[in-house]
Amino acid sequence: MKAAVMRAAKQPLEVEDIQISKPGPHEVLLRTEACGVCHSDLHMIDGAIPVPLPTVLGHEPAGIVEQVGDQVGYVKPGDRVVACLSVFCGACEFCLSGRPNLCGGASTARAPEAPPRLSKDGETIHQFTHLSAFAEQMLVHENAVVKIQDEIPLDRACLIGCGVTTGVGAALNTARVEAGSSVCVIGCGGVGLSVIQGASIAGAGRIIAVDRVSWKLDLAASLGATDGVDASESDPVMAVRELTGGGVDYAFEAIGLKETGEQAFHMIKAGGMAVIIGVYGLGVNIELPGLAFLQGKRVVGSMMGSNRFRIDIPRYADFYLDGRLKLDEMISARRKLGEINDAFDAMRKVEVARSVITF
Ligand SMILES: [Zn+2]
Ligand SMILES: [Zn+2]
Repeated sequence: MKAAVMRAAKQPLEVEDIQISKPGPHEVLLRTEACGVCHSDLHMIDGAIPVPLPTVLGHEPAGIVEQVGDQVGYVKPGDRVVACLSVFCGACEFCLSGRPNLCGGASTARAPEAPPRLSKDGETIHQFTHLSAFAEQMLVHENAVVKIQDEIPLDRACLIGCGVTTGVGAALNTARVEAGSSVCVIGCGGVGLSVIQGASIAGAGRIIAVDRVSWKLDLAASLGATDGVDASESDPVMAVRELTGGGVDYAFEAIGLKETGEQAFHMIKAGGMAVIIGVYGLGVNIELPGLAFLQGKRVVGSMMGSNRFRIDIPRYADFYLDGRLKLDEMISARRKLGEINDAFDAMRKVEVARSVITF
């Protein structure tokens, strides 16, 4: 099967023919139908976060079940699924305490001595986030998939697998935004736009979008933002504090920079919550004024929207089907696997909210 292989950081991906193993007892072979191009993949390509190489990136897919292992009862061939990197083991402290998004799924991977799921002529190709979705097929643990409604097209459903679950979940699960509260979102890419939509679904009173790109602010407004702050023109902290008379209840950081993480904290009022969603490069630290914690301010990390994805993803698909969650508007481009490097270039140039690779 064809896959976009990453062999070195800071190099283009190469579409190669590689081999995929047969499903083990709890594994599922998927035919990939669509995969969103998420910004986190770019961190690996640019070398900000080291990963074992060679690998196949891609972690926002939807597909169709082709084969299942003999112990799999949850899905059968022909089922339409979204696959999520929050694969859960079902038995660890995090899974058993209702936080399967923190599981990490280590025990769902194949043992080191077992044949690898992906390989090329005897060489192991490391699976990325238990998925490796920039490929025509995926071999995943059954706990990495969720069945999805027939009515939602898979080239839109895929977005829910990472960006939408991360953003909508940050608003609904991590922060539990209340109706009428004030919200600010720094960064209006796929995740930030999803936070805006989640806050809107929760009934937030004021939703302030912050970005440096004017077309993203326009898109944010069409998805539920009540105000926009162009951070290339003014100090976004001052602007948000002025708009709200002293700060917001919830500030979400969806970029992954020291500067914007600190800005999120400075945008909240006393008792407010800053939610850090962005993926930070290895070694990046955030500095905060310790005295401000006397005001009861909270800083919270949000991993994949604090999801329990087999519950959340079908709910978010329902939001799409009833018109409350807009996915079509978030897709700027559809591309084929052979154009994968163009999709990342467009992301670097900030030309797209989300690209989707279709197969
Ligand atoms: Zn992602
Ligand atoms: Zn677990």
